[in-house]
Amino acid sequence: MPELPEIETIKRDLEKKIIGKKIAGVEVREKKIVHPNPKVFATALTGNKFTKIDRRGKLLIFHLVSPPKFSSEKLRRARPDKFLLAHMKMTGQLVYRYDHKTIYGGHDVPKTITTLPNNFTRVIFRFQDKSILYFNDMRKFGYLKIVSGEVKNKILATRFGPDAFTPKLSLRVLKEVLEKRDKSSLKAVLMDQQSIAGIGNIYADEICFMAGLLPQRKINTLDVNDVKRLHNCIGHVLAHAVRHRGTTFGTRTTQNYVDSEGKHGNYLDFLKVYQRDGEKCLKCKKVIIQKDITAGRGTRFCKICQK
Ligand SMILES: [Zn+2]
Repeated sequence: MPELPEIETIKRDLEKKIIGKKIAGVEVREKKIVHPNPKVFATALTGNKFTKIDRRGKLLIFHLVSPPKFSSEKLRRARPDKFLLAHMKMTGQLVYRYDHKTIYGGHDVPKTITTLPNNFTRVIFRFQDKSILYFNDMRKFGYLKIVSGEVKNKILATRFGPDAFTPKLSLRVLKEVLEKRDKSSLKAVLMDQQSIAGIGNIYADEICFMAGLLPQRKINTLDVNDVKRLHNCIGHVLAHAVRHRGTTFGTRTTQNYVDSEGKHGNYLDFLKVYQRDGEKCLKCKKVIIQKDITAGRGTRFCKICQK
């Protein structure tokens, strides 16, 4: 599943490609993916333009404006009429095709699939300049929702905590988040999207390792310095990963994440614990990285470096 750095990379790349382009038509091939229903979904988009893309955690938020506002001098500042929420969940993928070039974001493209659209193409957006955006999703857990500003705000307020990669996750906010979950394990809270939005299995393990904290630690055993270190490491790990366009995961030779420029993320080279179980710890060089199941997920850690 793509995490915050991978979604941030897609956001940045798509912003350069689709902002201000008129949507000529929308084809829904799998009604389960779209809300409210295919007809309303297509009508809400056709003839309109995306003016901005926001992100909260792993959710992409496309701002949508309609023709009367096209002429306004600053399209980017035009008040959006509606929003398109896009979540890739496990296997979602955004593929943009223009001038015979194809750029990918999200889940990997299996080597056996070379055509577009393909069996996993669920929704197709056609722009007036003939470029096309495909939403592919093998397992169909992802979604595309058209919502009003009010509904968008309600969804963000109830299902998404503060974004892990903005100044909004200040030390004070992090302390408040942790206080509410004081009996949970550190890993569980880091991955809980309603507590902190954007961190998944890979980055949770990396953040715990860098902070020198065991993922199994109960929140109520962390002292002030532990929380400060944790706060610093969340920012540091995510910023570093975004700078390197995210992580290529799976085994080290097969790549599950491809960004929307078609390049693989290369943060893989910097991972310290994720998928390194059985290998010697890079920090203490004394013991091997262990693996257990914490918060329902495979979790890697060093017994010496993390307390
Ligand atoms: Zn170690």
